[in-house]
Amino acid sequence: MKVPFFDLKRQYSQISSEVDSSIKRVVDRQFFILGEELQQFEEEFTDYLGTKHVVGVNSGTDGLILALKALGVTEGDEVIMPTYSFIATGLAATWIGATPVFVDSDPDTFNIDATQIEKKITKRTKAILTVHMGGLPSNMDEILRIAKKHNLKVVEDACQAHGSEYKNKKAGTIGDLGVFSFYPSKNLGAYGDAGAICTNNKKLYGDLKLLRNYGQTKKYHHTKEGINTRLDEIQAAVLRVKLKYLDGWNEKRNKIADLYKEGLSKQFIYQVYGSTIYSNYYLFIILHKRRDTLAAYLNSEGIGTLIHYPVPMHLQETYKYLGYKEGDFPVAERICNQCISLPMFPELTYENVNYITDKINTF
Ligand SMILES: *Cc1c(COP(=O)(O)O)cnc(C)c1O
Repeated sequence: MKVPFFDLKRQYSQISSEVDSSIKRVVDRQFFILGEELQQFEEEFTDYLGTKHVVGVNSGTDGLILALKALGVTEGDEVIMPTYSFIATGLAATWIGATPVFVDSDPDTFNIDATQIEKKITKRTKAILTVHMGGLPSNMDEILRIAKKHNLKVVEDACQAHGSEYKNKKAGTIGDLGVFSFYPSKNLGAYGDAGAICTNNKKLYGDLKLLRNYGQTKKYHHTKEGINTRLDEIQAAVLRVKLKYLDGWNEKRNKIADLYKEGLSKQFIYQVYGSTIYSNYYLFIILHKRRDTLAAYLNSEGIGTLIHYPVPMHLQETYKYLGYKEGDFPVAERICNQCISLPMFPELTYENVNYITDKINTF
C-alpha cells in the first residue's frame, strides 16, 4: 500500500465543480484585488470564528508581521514566543526589528511552557506571540493572566489552528489578534499563498486594513507606512468554498487521530490535552528516539512522513546572532530531535491508518 503524507488531489476531486465555477466567476468578473469575494470571505470567516473582524492578507507570515506592527511593536522591543515553531513566527518579530525571546516547550502539549514566560519578561517586552502547534491551542488562560499582569499584548499564531477550540472559543479569537495561514496544505488552504488576521478591536481592524494596502485611506492618500499584502479574489473565492467543509474535515482528522492513538502501541509520545480543548489535528506528531531510522523504514514501506520541525528557532543559523546555544531549551530540542509527523488528511481511509499503525508497531 502507498500512503502519501498528504494528498490534495483527493480533496479536489470532491469539490472540483464548486471550486472551478468559483474561480471562473472571478475571472468572468475581471476584478482581482480587494473586491466582492474577499469581502464575502472576510464576513464568512468572521462568523465562523465568532469574532468581530477579519482582514485578509497575502500569507500567514505577512499576517504575523502586520499583527505585531499594528500593536506598535518596533525596533528594540522584545516578543516572547516558543522556540519550537516554524521560522515565520520568529521572522514576524525580527522583520520589524524586534527581538524574539524564546521559551521552552511543555512536554505534554508541545506548546509554549507558560510557566516559564514570566521570568523572560523585561522592560522591553511588548507582546507574547504564542503558537498553537499542530492545531493544539496553547494554555491561553495562563498566557492572558500573565499578559494582563504585565500589560503585554497577546498574538496567537493560529496558522495551524483553523477551527481548533479552547474552552468553546475558536483559536485565534482569544488574544488581541489571531493570525491564520491559508497555505495550501493547511486545514483551510488556498490555491496559492493567503492568510488572515482576526480581532475584536475596531481600532486594530482599521489600522490593519490600512497597513495591508499601502497605508492608503483614499486613492493616493497615505496615512500609515503600509505595504502591499492582500488576499486576492481568486484565493478568496476558493477559500469561500472550502470554509463550508472545514468543520467536517476537522472531524475526520479527529477520527484519524483517535485511530492512531488506539492503534499505536503505548511506547509513543504524542501531544496530550484536556477535555476543554479541541484540536483540528493539522499534524499528528509522535516522538521516537530513532526518528530518522523510523522515517526511512516507513518510506520503504510506502508511507510518507515529514519532520515538523528538525531545528528549533534558537538553533537556526538565521538566529545565531541572538546568542542561544544547544541545551538552552531541552524539551524543545528533544521534540525537534525525535518528532515525526504521520500522514494526516481527512481523506485517509481506515485501511490506510491501520496499515500505518501496523508498520510502526512492528518497527
Ligand atoms: C504555515 C505557518 C506560518 C506561515 O504561514 P505562511 O502562510 O506560509 O506564510 C506561520 N506560523 C506557523 C506556525 C505556520 O504553521
